[in-house]
Amino acid sequence: MYKKMFLLLCLMLEIGMAYSSGWTYGRKEHGVDHWGEEYEECSHQRQSPIDFNSEEMIPKDEVALRFLNYNQIPNDVKILNNGHTVKLEFNVSQPLYMYGGGLWTAYKLAQIHLHWGHDDSSGSEHTVNGKTYPVEIHFVHFKARFTDLTAALADPEPDTLAVLGVFGELSKDDNMKLAPMINSLEQVKNKVGTNLKIKPFPASNFFPKDLSRFYRYEGSLTTPACNEIVMWTVAQKAIPISESQLDALRSLREEHGDALVDNYRPVQPINGRKILNVSTYNIESVSGASQVYSSVLITCALSLAFNKLF
Ligand SMILES: [Zn+2]
Repeated sequence: MYKKMFLLLCLMLEIGMAYSSGWTYGRKEHGVDHWGEEYEECSHQRQSPIDFNSEEMIPKDEVALRFLNYNQIPNDVKILNNGHTVKLEFNVSQPLYMYGGGLWTAYKLAQIHLHWGHDDSSGSEHTVNGKTYPVEIHFVHFKARFTDLTAALADPEPDTLAVLGVFGELSKDDNMKLAPMINSLEQVKNKVGTNLKIKPFPASNFFPKDLSRFYRYEGSLTTPACNEIVMWTVAQKAIPISESQLDALRSLREEHGDALVDNYRPVQPINGRKILNVSTYNIESVSGASQVYSSVLITCALSLAFNKLF
């Protein structure tokens, strides 16, 4: 009898601890202002997101950002409402790579997730001259030499992850490329923690028309434990999204039934970091012999990535 009660007490303590180590958005207990109390790195000096202020950024030219296999239709796509965001994972035959654009190595896509507000006045994590967007999409990549995200996180460096951020801006019409995800939200809105397979679509559906200009800086994850291991690339061109599509995101529920909205962290101090305003050019458009040169660069980027040189 006593043994059973003791075990029950242990279980309750453990659940209690798990709950107290949970974090939330908003300003209350466990909210964004308190993350640093439990997750020390959240109070460090190279945190994300930030505001991109035109007057403080450094202009930079780079070769084009490249994406390999992003147009591939995956074998399946899994969607998950994890209580903090909606996350998509692509089960693909060929890994999805991002490289070029000033990145030092090649990166593989791990997952895509989104941040949004309760109305159109907020939602994005990064801001541009103080302006917010109603939604921000994050493509989370890890260094291609690692087999998966967990292995990459076990070997933390300032550029272990490369996250591509894409803003969504309000449009009158639905963005049909987002439809496969938006239409599946109904099935996960009340099911925190349940993975669901949805109609496959290419990850490039979330790309803006133009990725030739972006912001680049060294920062962190925007959720605890706020690890300072992210090379950020935030596209300047947004994708369109309609009010009804945003409402579908806002219909999601957190674990305890509250609306899952305003899942963005406020902007953080820059603390002297270099923030680049990058314009890219295609090697093809510069020289006639460039096709060959360009393939050599691709091969180099990928082989460097696998050779543990970085
Ligand atoms: Zn994110």
